[in-house]
Amino acid sequence: MESVLILGNGQAGIALAREIRKLDPRRPITLLGRDAYGFNRSEFVQALGPSQKTLSTEDLLALGEQLRIDMVPNCTAQSIRVADCSVQTDHGEYQADKLVLALGSSPMLPSFARDLPGLVAAVTHASVVNKLRARLASVKDLIIIGAGQSGCELANTLADAGKNVTVIEQHAGPLFELMPLDARRYLVEQLEERGVKFHFNARCASASKEGHRAQLALTNGKHVEGDLVIACIGVVPNTKLASDAGLKVRKGIMVDRKLATSAPDVYALGDCAEINGVWLPYSQAIHHEVSALARVLTGQNVQLNFPPMPLKLNIPCCPTVIAQPRPGLTGQWETLMVEHGLNASFISERGQLSGFVLMGEETAEAPFLQDEIPNWMNL
Ligand SMILES: Cc1cc2nc3c(=O)[nH]c(=O)nc-3n(C[C@H](O)[C@H](O)[C@H](O)COP(=O)(O)OP(=O)(O)OC[C@H]3O[C@@H](n4cnc5c(N)ncnc54)[C@H](O)[C@@H]3O)c2cc1C
Repeated sequence: MESVLILGNGQAGIALAREIRKLDPRRPITLLGRDAYGFNRSEFVQALGPSQKTLSTEDLLALGEQLRIDMVPNCTAQSIRVADCSVQTDHGEYQADKLVLALGSSPMLPSFARDLPGLVAAVTHASVVNKLRARLASVKDLIIIGAGQSGCELANTLADAGKNVTVIEQHAGPLFELMPLDARRYLVEQLEERGVKFHFNARCASASKEGHRAQLALTNGKHVEGDLVIACIGVVPNTKLASDAGLKVRKGIMVDRKLATSAPDVYALGDCAEINGVWLPYSQAIHHEVSALARVLTGQNVQLNFPPMPLKLNIPCCPTVIAQPRPGLTGQWETLMVEHGLNASFISERGQLSGFVLMGEETAEAPFLQDEIPNWMNL
């Protein structure tokens, strides 16, 4: 029976180990990775809010016993050899018949972070969230860089926690590539009502540290200062080990619909993978990838397909669901403002509903509209 070695013990790695074990009670599985415990990234924003929700963590060694797998936490891989599916780590070498890379992604930091030692954070790991929580108790003025999903979620959460929040965004509005103008305006209005301040079309021109505070000069001529800067400018897939090992990498580690990389018996999934040219760094996508790859690894002839996966944002002052139209599709947005929300439909040139943004009470429509839009994610 072929053994499986999974490298990376984040959401994708852990979920894959569980799923393989569900399908096959006896297959030898090793799961190794840098993390000491399991956690869920989608809880991070809430954990920083007024509810101070405790992050749920998972004891990996106990999970290993329960699943009867060889669990190796706190273990960092230094290199991969694809010829024999082996991984060289600070705990020695591990080898199996099949190797799965579940190496995730890392946060980007703005280039000015180096000018502000100790004053710039990015929220990506449970340990960072716990430290930030303690720090937030003693600070008042916060600057968030980036008005994408995490930036908007965090702005709402921290404003509700009584902080003065200023958001700096290089585009003309929040979630710029995902929403039409009316939806962006509506979201900004709701967040401004909570006290959030925005600077759009602005970047940081220079940064300095004055005592314990950050001072940013913006390209729009304004100055902002704060006790802490939180970077929400996105993540990049962790691909270095894979490219050093000779695997094909573009944005992510390139895999096909069986999650197979360019080397035999080596697979990749989660945030580190680019599947048939599509990079989807979302838990929702991982759920489907895990299901397909566990079947492939246990001998089934399966190909991955994604259903439509509208993105649900955790912005309590403005609940939002977005189904993005296929990139490059021509058409136009039609927006209906209602008393407590907004309903924007993207209508293609052929007259077909091809995407939507729902806000406020209109989010209740999402399950019905979801069935009407074409599934461009189908690979
Ligand atoms: C703040 C935040 C909020 C989010 N909210 C949502 C949401 O609401 N909905 C949604 O669908 N998605 C959300 N996401 C995205 C989702 O969390 C990710 O898609 C998912 O966690 C990726 O899982 P992964 O296992 O691929 O990567 P990761 O969770 O990054 O795991 C990668 C693992 O590999 C390990 N690793 C890396 N390099 C090495 C090495 N050299 N040696 C050993 N181990 C290594 C890491 O330690 C880590 O354990 C959010 C992400 C963030 C940051």
